[in-house]
Parts: sequence; structure tokens; C-alpha cells
Amino acid sequence: MKYILSSLLVSLATLAFGQEAGKDPKTTEMWKITPPVVTAGKAYGEAPSDAEILFDGKDLNNWVSANSGKSAGWEVKDGAMTVVKGSGDIKTKKAFGDCQLHIEWRTPATVESEGQGRGNSGIFFMEKYELQVLDSYQNTTYPNGQAGSIYKQHIPLVNASRKPGEWQTYDAIFTAPRFSENGRIVVPARITVFHNGVVIQNNVEIWGPSEYIGLPVYLPHDGKGSIRLQDHGNPVSYRNIWIRNM
Ligand code: MG
Repeated sequence: MKYILSSLLVSLATLAFGQEAGKDPKTTEMWKITPPVVTAGKAYGEAPSDAEILFDGKDLNNWVSANSGKSAGWEVKDGAMTVVKGSGDIKTKKAFGDCQLHIEWRTPATVESEGQGRGNSGIFFMEKYELQVLDSYQNTTYPNGQAGSIYKQHIPLVNASRKPGEWQTYDAIFTAPRFSENGRIVVPARITVFHNGVVIQNNVEIWGPSEYIGLPVYLPHDGKGSIRLQDHGNPVSYRNIWIRNM
């Protein structure tokens, strides 16, 4: 925790003194903490009776292209949807605020790259706040960018990753941010995440929209937003996606 705070303070100080923080993505990489590896238990995740099914393995009827708003261009096959490189992010037609999300994902069995280039995708709450999807099984990257990180913000408590090619689960409890009438952030967003049944984010405060470069800044937005899934160029698959409003 001390390392996280000191890293943040260093970053903030860099910004405050007007240096080059706005131009270098490495400024916000945190390398000092490596989450311990944990071997997760068996899979689970059947939807409860009041859940809204976002993907049941059959079609992308609940999803659209995040860019065009037209039909989503990912492949549906064998009960899963898979990123088609270059087709772009997809998002839910419906918008959600405070919610519980269950989502299963799988990175390619064949390892072709390393670091951020290996099985990269992501789940953006309200299209803005990224829970990172990455093949983090024996794959080194900056820990605040590994699987289960709140991208460039919170390092997961442990690394509960399964091997590439195996299905994994996230169960997340997301609390949307609250803004005042004049658009100031009043209550930041919060998130709790279980990875393969293991808690990896414990009600952490989200600092603002996920940024590749520089520190996040909250900008006011609606109380509900789509769930967006990232096309990062790797054929990551998803299945059994359901959500509960809270
Ligand atoms: Mg990503």
C-alpha cells in the first residue's frame, strides 16, 4: 500500500511540476509490487434468477459496435464470442449503473507475444473504467496493467490467473460515480472483483476513467452506461455474461 501511495505521489508531483508526464505512458506504470500467485478452485458462475443475460453463447443481439452503433463484428462460435481483430470494441445496447457482473473469458491457448500484447482485452464499466483482461499466467508486465488490475490504477491483490486457453471468471461489484449538478465528482466509483473466485480488488476507489497515458480525471457523465469489451487485437473469447442491477 505504501508503494502504491508513494508511486501515486511521485506521479502527482511530476504533474504538479509540469514535467513530461503527459507524454510518456511509462510514467503511470507501477513495477514495485508483484502480486503473489494463487491457484484458483473449480469453475462456477450459473446466473441467478434475477440476472439479465447479456450473452448466452448464441448471438450478439444484446451488443453493438462501440464505434458505429451497428451490429457487433465479433465471431460467435461454440458458445463463445471472440474478438475479431480490427472489428473494434463492442458494447451492450443497455446501460447500467451500480451492478454485479459475471463474465467468463479465455485468452488464446497459443502464446504469441508477451507483456501487454498477450491476450489483451478489457471490460469497461460505463465504457470508461477498465477491468483489465490479459494472459497473466507467467507473463510479466507492469502489475497495475496485469489481469484483474483496474488499468493503470489498482494492482490486483493476488494473481489468480489460469493457464492460457483455459476459461476464467470475473465477478465484479461496481458502484458508479456520483456527480453534483454542476458536474463535480462527489463520490468516486468503487469496485470489488473476484478472479476465479478469489478476491483481487476489495472495494477500491476508482480514480477516474482509465487512461493509457497520464493520470485520470473525472468528467461528469450519465448515471448509467454500457459495458464495453475491448478489441486489443488479440483473439480473446467471452462467454456466460450476466448482470444484476443494484
Ligand atoms: Mg486491455
